[in-house]
Amino acid sequence: MSSLGSTAGSTAGSTAHVDFGAERVTAAEKTRRVGGVFDAVAGRYDLMNDLMSFGCHRLLKRAAVEMARLRPGKRVLDLAGGTGDVSALAARRVGERNGSSAGHVVLADINRSMMRVGRNQLLDRGCVNVVFAQADAAALPFADGAFDAVLVAFGVRNFTNKEAGLAEMHRVLATGGVAVVLEFSQVVNPLLAYGFAALKRTWPTLGQAVVGDAAPYRYLVESIDHHPDQEAFRQMMCDAGFKAVEVHNLVAGAAAIHRGLK
Ligand code: SAM
Repeated sequence: MSSLGSTAGSTAGSTAHVDFGAERVTAAEKTRRVGGVFDAVAGRYDLMNDLMSFGCHRLLKRAAVEMARLRPGKRVLDLAGGTGDVSALAARRVGERNGSSAGHVVLADINRSMMRVGRNQLLDRGCVNVVFAQADAAALPFADGAFDAVLVAFGVRNFTNKEAGLAEMHRVLATGGVAVVLEFSQVVNPLLAYGFAALKRTWPTLGQAVVGDAAPYRYLVESIDHHPDQEAFRQMMCDAGFKAVEVHNLVAGAAAIHRGLK
């Protein structure tokens, strides 16, 4: 696995309290517990995503990558990239075509277990223009303006310090660059909200059956319920300095894409 450096765990020293699902814990404790969640699920992460969403997560990631409007030659950061679905889609779009120079994707994630699975999958898919960096979103080891696009899929919810992560995304983007955040959000239709809540209640049982552990999926459900809604997160992106922030609801708001410019 190529590595561009490591800042993993850089928020672990803070004593501020943050959400870990339904609990309030110290920042250090959240970093530790989120690490435990993804260590536990890494080997079956993709299978569980397919089962929980009936494969729908793949369409949502495709929509997010489309919204970044990537072109050959662009430099992309897939932050909290995990097992690499978004990197694979982005790598194809920025790769060499008709004589244009090849771009590249950096998959950055705090968790080595997730990146190990991602590295193997991207090798299998023949993605040669993806490099890996173990890094905390709150302290990215990249220069100011190093990327034309930053994408985060289902990652922000897990950041120990969301504001710091958004500020770092803004810092590493070049002027005119685009940030795309795909995340669970609030279902806008009450009937569908009831259905989505019922679906979520099955996930810990499924996690117990497939991964042998329900706890990571209880955290998943709680973290979705505690994530800021569409408007609150739009405001957080504006506060981090992003301009022209748009919100696009997907599956009636069960997920949303926030797209902003630097
Ligand atoms: N983007 C991938 C996808 O959509 O399949 C993975 C999403 S997974 C739900 C969340 C990822 O966020 C995990 O791989 C986890 O290690 C990573 N993560 C959590 N906290 C992080 C942080 N502070 N900095 C960087 N990555 C983090």
